[in-house]
Amino acid sequence: MPAILRRAVLAATTTVAVVAAARRSFAQGTAPTRVSGGPSYPFTLPPLPYAFTANEPTIDAQTMELHHDKHHAAYVANLNAAVKDHPQVASMPLAEMLGRLAELPEAIRAAVRNNGGGHANHSMFWTVMGGKGGDPEGAVGTAIARDFGSFAALKADFAKAGAGQFGSGWAMVLVDKAGKLSLVARPNQDSPLMDGKTVLFGNDVWEHAYYLKYQNRRPDYLAAWWNVIDWGAIQQRYQAAMAGTLSI
Ligand code: MN
Repeated sequence: MPAILRRAVLAATTTVAVVAAARRSFAQGTAPTRVSGGPSYPFTLPPLPYAFTANEPTIDAQTMELHHDKHHAAYVANLNAAVKDHPQVASMPLAEMLGRLAELPEAIRAAVRNNGGGHANHSMFWTVMGGKGGDPEGAVGTAIARDFGSFAALKADFAKAGAGQFGSGWAMVLVDKAGKLSLVARPNQDSPLMDGKTVLFGNDVWEHAYYLKYQNRRPDYLAAWWNVIDWGAIQQRYQAAMAGTLSI
């Protein structure tokens, strides 16, 4: 083998060995790898699956454009910047990064928490809107009635969770592997994936999500938001969650 080629092969082999060793050291950690698949480095901004105007009049087009093209894009860019020099972290799917935050290098842990959480939360958020609202049907409708009492009761509890979240954050409905639903509020961009939990759907209560139209009236935004819910998309997430294939 020519010397120059041999050096290239050696260099490549060394790189592979280093990455493999890094993966082993994380694999020996305490947190189980529960979620596979889903977004991974280099992360990209998922296209909005409908027009900026699709959620009007509930959410104005300018808010949708700024929220997606500026806010979510910034989380993606900052997440990529945080992990680019950490191949052992960059090799993990996003849900695994969030689920194993405590094992990540301290220097990038907060950046992954904030921007990785932001990327996961917003990637979910766009897909559960763009619909026509109405009452939930099928398996999700049944689960809501079973676990919250009624859709009206869920909306009341969700409004309380969202309005009661001090500062920025999210109100979310979680789903476990058996299909059981529960309600949580999370501050900032904290993702339930950090606790190994799966999000069925959720609403963003950061002011950037509603301030142009609703200003300080967060409860009005929370109440109106149900008008643009896509129950068909949520039904698909529900089935995927129970099949173990919902990664974000
Ligand atoms: Mn947001």
